[in-house]
Amino acid sequence: MTAPVRLDVSDVFNQSPPYEDVDLYDDDQPLRDAVAANGAGADAAALSAFGKRWGSAEMFEEARLANENVPKLRSFDPKGFRRDVVEFHPAYHRLMAESMAEGIHCSMWRPDGSHAPAEVARAARFYMTNQIEAGHNCPITMTRACVAALASEPEVLDRLLPKILSRAYDQSFRPWWEKTGITLGMGMTEKQGGTDVRANTTRAVPARDGYDITGHKWFFSAPMCDAFLVLAQAPGGLTCFLVPRFRPDGAVNALQLQRLKDKLGNRSNASSEVEFVEAFGWRVGEEGRGVRTIIEMVQLTRLDCAIASAGFMRVALAQAVHHTRYRRVFQRKLVDQPMMRTVLADLALQVEAAVALVMRLCRAVDRAGVDPRARACSFPPPNIWCARPPPGSSTRRWSASAATDTSRKARWRGSIARRRSTPSGKAPATSCVSTCCGR
Ligand SMILES: Cc1cc2nc3c(=O)[nH]c(=O)nc-3n(C[C@H](O)[C@H](O)[C@H](O)COP(=O)(O)OP(=O)(O)OC[C@H]3O[C@@H](n4cnc5c(N)ncnc54)[C@H](O)[C@@H]3O)c2cc1C
Repeated sequence: MTAPVRLDVSDVFNQSPPYEDVDLYDDDQPLRDAVAANGAGADAAALSAFGKRWGSAEMFEEARLANENVPKLRSFDPKGFRRDVVEFHPAYHRLMAESMAEGIHCSMWRPDGSHAPAEVARAARFYMTNQIEAGHNCPITMTRACVAALASEPEVLDRLLPKILSRAYDQSFRPWWEKTGITLGMGMTEKQGGTDVRANTTRAVPARDGYDITGHKWFFSAPMCDAFLVLAQAPGGLTCFLVPRFRPDGAVNALQLQRLKDKLGNRSNASSEVEFVEAFGWRVGEEGRGVRTIIEMVQLTRLDCAIASAGFMRVALAQAVHHTRYRRVFQRKLVDQPMMRTVLADLALQVEAAVALVMRLCRAVDRAGVDPRARACSFPPPNIWCARPPPGSSTRRWSASAATDTSRKARWRGSIARRRSTPSGKAPATSCVSTCCGR
């Protein structure tokens, strides 16, 4: 009689190894092609080093820590004095420091505030960081975008720009002029009027050296930024203001954080509700021209929404392909099952179209100052597509300029199938979509 086989219930098999230690640039041929095609090929070596660093297991771990340990609002100190600060996990600060050291918040601005043609290389970095951790990118994108609106008020911009251009992240809660580097946020939306900012009720009253602002914002992300573009009703109508966390005399400005949002995603980053109680603000642009002024910022954050969304699509695809190369179902690896391969090929096509589209758009933004046709092209709605592909949306419709359907899909299918798991059991050195389009 044979001895009974002991079942080890903790034995795990038929799982894929962790998706980590991947090379986010060299493994991504559509990204490399899009970077080269849009004039940023000279940055390839730096982008390659960046892709290895951000794809490391260490950065995945930072992202996990930052999202599992969500920010905490400290409204008061133990004695009851207002504090209005948010505490973040150290991993969030480390992610901020890494992104800022690479200039993702500022590399497209010259010291005189003009736009340097650096969108494409910067977008490649932003696309890669969003594959690892999206939340900290909220203040990164707002900081870079606010400069465009501040251009309406050169005196204010001149004062802040050296701090904005600094690549040294400074998490301390001090007046902006004492810090090595600063970040900027924005508050537009109110309870009664999200998209429709003309319904805003927050008031701005002219006061000595600036305005006193009283009211609220329903969404006020990254509230530990050093200053915020805020819309409020001035005597001349809806106007844009810059509201610093500290008043010019060094006192804490009256930005009272009410609570933090409990969000489904973007958890590492705080989004707050805030009340302004005669908070100090500088006017940015003319009274009554608030939307026209702040739209310069909005336009760049929209662009970043498109780039980030393309990054999310890419990492979803990469993880799917990685997993299916290891998982066996019905005597075959999932990646070898014809229907699965078709699904992956569809996803791959959409990712390739997305990255081609956003990088082309970034080139148009870079050239907008010198080429009227590029300027016209720099305002399409790719964020709508990238962020919210409509159900059943046709890859054919959107991939027309980036990929033609059937032949390329066949190549994707073949190349996904050709690539195999590595003997080490680690993520393949070249990950899913690397050489897939065979260029
Ligand atoms: C994670 C997160 C962070 C945020 N951070 C900030 C921040 O830092 N600062 C800030 O100011 N805001 C912030 N917001 C708020 C964001 O800007 C608003 O959610 C957005 O403006 C939409 O407003 P709403 O949600 O009130 O939707 P509503 O304005 O009520 O709109 C509802 C829906 O109707 C659609 N809609 C609106 N107008 C039209 C129209 N004319 N035709 C057809 N459809 C229309 C909208 O697209 C939307 O889908 C944040 C939101 C999120 C989710």
